[in-house]
Amino acid sequence: MPESWSDNWLSWDFAKLAFEIFSLYISASEIPPQDLRELVDKSYSPAVFRSPQVTPLVRLDSKEQLYLLELFHGPTFAFKDVALQFLGNLFEYFLVRRNKGRETEDREHLTVLGATSGDTGSAAIYGLKGKSDVSILILHPHKRISPIQEAQMTSVLDENVYNFALKADQGEQGASFDDCQDLVKAAFGDVDINHTHKLAAVNSINWARILAQISYYFSAYASLRRSDTSGTSKVRFVVPTGNFGDVLAGYFAKRMGLPIEKLVIATNSNDILNRFWKSGSYEKQPTHGKQAKGGFPEDGVKAHEDGVKETLSPAMDILVSSNFERLLWFLAYDVLGSGSEEQRRKTAGEKVKGWLDDLKSQGGFSVPQSVLEAAKEDFESERVSDDQTLAMIASTYSEESPAATSDASKGTTGLTHKGKYILDPHSAVGVHVARNSLHHAPDIVHIALATAHPAKFSAAVQEALKGEDDFEFDNLLPDQFVGLEALERRLTILDKSKGIEGFKKEIRSRVPRSK
Ligand SMILES: *Cc1c(COP(=O)(O)O)cnc(C)c1O
Repeated sequence: MPESWSDNWLSWDFAKLAFEIFSLYISASEIPPQDLRELVDKSYSPAVFRSPQVTPLVRLDSKEQLYLLELFHGPTFAFKDVALQFLGNLFEYFLVRRNKGRETEDREHLTVLGATSGDTGSAAIYGLKGKSDVSILILHPHKRISPIQEAQMTSVLDENVYNFALKADQGEQGASFDDCQDLVKAAFGDVDINHTHKLAAVNSINWARILAQISYYFSAYASLRRSDTSGTSKVRFVVPTGNFGDVLAGYFAKRMGLPIEKLVIATNSNDILNRFWKSGSYEKQPTHGKQAKGGFPEDGVKAHEDGVKETLSPAMDILVSSNFERLLWFLAYDVLGSGSEEQRRKTAGEKVKGWLDDLKSQGGFSVPQSVLEAAKEDFESERVSDDQTLAMIASTYSEESPAATSDASKGTTGLTHKGKYILDPHSAVGVHVARNSLHHAPDIVHIALATAHPAKFSAAVQEALKGEDDFEFDNLLPDQFVGLEALERRLTILDKSKGIEGFKKEIRSRVPRSK
């Protein structure tokens, strides 16, 4: 942390913290400070985030040891809003600046393109809707995302928003997420379409997204220090993890000097990261106990052909984590590098490339013991099954929660009015791991990241709480979700058999071209 922050930063609000953190990585010549401050204020204003603290910290236990960091107060009720609201404003800022003084026909126009299995697509659409000089086109597998997610995306009628759904070749069946991903990749690699449309990505390896996510680690810590008189020094963050973007931001916060004792990775049955931290091997398929393709029959979860398992926390259903290679780079740099800065960078780059090549050609790789040990200094991990997820939603609900005395109105927290906390399945994976971690580190304050509002993943929540007499799902539903599924929608259905040419044709006939 820069010396100039001293202890003052503990009193900064979310927007000020975000601004100061972004300023460390975005030079004033790239974005003048005053403009950056405006971008941040616009992204985290009360018009966008329903909580005045943006990402409020609430206490879950009576011992002041377990807190939840609620990241779901943005427009789509999941944590990806925190990054994508800022990213949307950033795209618009650069384009409008470049196009200053140009006539309509001469304006550069960006088409942000992405495939989604649910959460990223909706957060990207809400981040970019209505922005100048930029369109957003999101492709999802037809009828294979949750009804709420589909309604959330397709009911956005702004002119610059394009929802495409990919249908499989036969009948009304939807194609798979991978089919969508393949088509989007093909478009990025296609010379013709890049000639008429300037394409840009919003995937989880986008650096601006990671940067934006660093803010809430700082704001959570500051908020804890303000409310806590015992002088808490170090904390643990527990992070429900899929593509490793969220927890990577925590790692950067730690490297910047935030007193994080450990980052705890919580995975569902798609547990490649947990297996890595246990063994030092990063393998698409577990080599031990492997039975049918997909492994782990004891979970009772469905495995797709490529090995990805369908769980109750679908936003974490991944085979390999796309941001993990960034951590590998730092580990290789710290542990295996030697000599000059340049040599260390070179070594790190070569090592990571070798590992990723093995991942591609052999399905996995192992790191030296020293690298694994370094990884364990900053991180721990645990894997959580669907049954444990449901049990955690139920047991947290049946406890009186001090969090209930905080800002408990509908839609602004995940609470019911009866003083009981309702976790969404992703957050429950994290809380399960946090409660276990508290057993062996009882003196350390734990902050578990709550990544989605429970109403967004209603099936799992209802399943977990079906035995509770006083649970009424409708009490949980934020106003924004009431009647959502009946709203007017706009959607283009695409046949998989038409391939990339069909996709290009639809893009050309609908989305404005770039100069
Ligand atoms: C995306 C997402 C995650 C996983 O975050 P990563 O950055 O991919 O690790 C967890 N929970 C929810 C609700 C999400 O949308």
